Amino acid sequence: MTNKDTSRVALVTGGTRGIGEAICMVLREAGYQVVTTYRNPERKPQAQEWQQRQAAAGIEIDLIQMDVSSPKSCEQGAREILERYGRLDVLVNNAGITRDAVMKKMSLDAWQEVIHTNLDSVFNVTRCFLETLLEQKYGRIVNISSINGQKGQFGQVNYSAAKAGVHGFTMALAQETARKGITVNTVSPGYVDTDMVMAIDEGVREKLQAQIPVGRFGEPREIARLVEFLADEQSSFITGANFPINGGMFMH
Ligand code: NDP
Repeated sequence: MTNKDTSRVALVTGGTRGIGEAICMVLREAGYQVVTTYRNPERKPQAQEWQQRQAAAGIEIDLIQMDVSSPKSCEQGAREILERYGRLDVLVNNAGITRDAVMKKMSLDAWQEVIHTNLDSVFNVTRCFLETLLEQKYGRIVNISSINGQKGQFGQVNYSAAKAGVHGFTMALAQETARKGITVNTVSPGYVDTDMVMAIDEGVREKLQAQIPVGRFGEPREIARLVEFLADEQSSFITGANFPINGGMFMH
């Protein structure tokens, strides 16, 4: 059944925790109908529990299973979204992982998993909605990259390569869609207080924090506010740009 609500529809990949969750909340507060994804079909009950917790707090977020590293899964998820809403206005490619190791010790699996999840995913998801965005003559695409895609990071050749690739994708697609009412931008966070950063060894984490001029890690909502700004209809002259948001850790 097609949804009758006419407010704008936003898809945030990987939004049941971390930065993605904050983006879902901020977009919902701004009046969007928000859909997010969980990766693993077996974790549907946990994802639904999360959804119910949000609903109990008055925040309605729609949920769909989508493994962003799988083109088939993205096609299936996108079909469900378009059947349900008949449109998509904002796409936030947020889902991502790390599999860190120095190059000497990095397995082919660790390389491929990160490239599939952090870079191929942006292609996989975007391609499923591009025709719709072009037909609508409207769209906002925000790709979440990383400070480490800008400057590289010891122990992260896979992650740094994927995240740098995301911005290349952004710049190319921005040119292809600029006259069609679609903007495409990259947000490159520095270190933000989420599971991903808490998984880093404590000693390394302290050293990283000491390199941040602001003196602390970022909060997910601080990233989400920038995404909301770029998603806004009025941000129509901003496209192909990369926005660092890193507490002054890398100025470029
Ligand atoms: P988290 O580890 O907290 O959350 C990652 C999210 O991505 C989860 O919702 C997870 O879903 C989802 N995800 C991972 N793999 C897949 C997949 N194959 N298909 C669908 N969903 C998937 O990460 P953060 O919130 O910290 O990071 C969010 C984004 O921000 C990432 O792209 C990350 O690289 C980037 N970033 C993060 C920084 C940080 O300091 N935290 C700094 C710079 C960039 P599930 O729960 O279902 O597994």
